[in-house]
Amino acid sequence: MPDLILSNAALPDGRTGIDVAVENGRIVGIGAGIAAQAGQVGEVIDAGGRLVSPPFVDPHFHMDATLSLGLPRMNQSGTLLEGIALWGELKPILTVEAMVERALRYCDLAVARGLLFIRSHVDVSDPTLRTAEAMIEVREKVKPYIDLQLVAFPQDGYFRSAGAVELLARSLDMGLDIVGGIPHFERTMAEGAASLEALCRLAAERGLPVDIHCDETDDPLSRHVETLAAQTLRFGLKGRVAASHCTSMHSMDNYYASKLIPLIAEAELDVIPNPLINITLQGRHDTYPRRRGLTRVAELRAAGVNVSFGHDCVMDPWYPLGSGDMLEVAHMAAHALPLTSREGLRWLFDAVTVNGAKTMRLDGYGLDVGARADFVLLQAADPIEALRLKAHRLLVVKNGKVVSRAEPKQFRLDLPGRPGAVDEASYAPRAAG
Ligand SMILES: [Zn+2]
Repeated sequence: MPDLILSNAALPDGRTGIDVAVENGRIVGIGAGIAAQAGQVGEVIDAGGRLVSPPFVDPHFHMDATLSLGLPRMNQSGTLLEGIALWGELKPILTVEAMVERALRYCDLAVARGLLFIRSHVDVSDPTLRTAEAMIEVREKVKPYIDLQLVAFPQDGYFRSAGAVELLARSLDMGLDIVGGIPHFERTMAEGAASLEALCRLAAERGLPVDIHCDETDDPLSRHVETLAAQTLRFGLKGRVAASHCTSMHSMDNYYASKLIPLIAEAELDVIPNPLINITLQGRHDTYPRRRGLTRVAELRAAGVNVSFGHDCVMDPWYPLGSGDMLEVAHMAAHALPLTSREGLRWLFDAVTVNGAKTMRLDGYGLDVGARADFVLLQAADPIEALRLKAHRLLVVKNGKVVSRAEPKQFRLDLPGRPGAVDEASYAPRAAG
């Protein structure tokens, strides 16, 4: 007997009138007519023809800093440099309890948004490693509803900051999952390249994945992603290395980029742009024209590279906005890249769902029989409509259990001769596709 059937849903692949049956935390049936044929069912929820999707995935976040906006003061200029200075002021006064509390609050919001998979970088450059301690506690606490992967991130530089080599190793011993790095922040290009060799060697020795803040700059000569690809191949890490940001590729010479992108594909790097943050923090030294700073998504896709988007920051020293909504991230990408072809808009939905799952190497993710019963019901007809509306999440299911519910969003109007209510999702275009 199914515990739950979601009936009459639309799927991201365009099928409509689909029922999804769930038993013991797994999807046991997906297709038309399942609800009608099922005998006794724990609960049947009518999707009303709306879109059901696998959960949203955020492969690049900073959970140790989130919701710290205003502590110990506001970033008045809104620049990266003041943000870095602010984080430096905040770090010595952070407590484990406060970090855990803020992260748990963020995770509450994430669940309500249908965001159930998060990879967070953890700044391990403070000798107390309080950040690592706090985030490991959070990973354990949210396990029933969010899969949280933790990257050991030497935010002040692996070679530039005294003690970082030892601190990063210690944080991995404590139980962080992934090796991080920041080559463009090392003192020289050579030290940046050397840091990537050391970090890939460490990952190979420990059998861990790698996720690097790579070339988060407008400098077209910041070419560390090339070294990351080469070291990935050298140490046999193909398929388990991600390059985050890669904003310098925006400004690179086209000829060089045409050599670089096949190398990224050969090493099977995942590339993780962070559209909300890249569009706000890059281009700050420009007058006009002002660069957008997003990496070359179209060319990477054409080369077969898996591209997924991260949220990066929500209300922290670097970014005062953000809401835990991966559709807001994809919506920004549509504008900032820009990418508004029908195929491109549809792909943007994948970039915050299935592509992120591939980057995080999630098992049992997706709307398939046998997969984990994790899914989200959206107040939208299809993926492009969901993107347009940053659609309201009506239902979030984790391991077959409803973990968040909301009433459909509706505005009540009082206008002469006009309808009494507006449902924004009812404005979907009539023509399919
Ligand atoms: Zn980041």
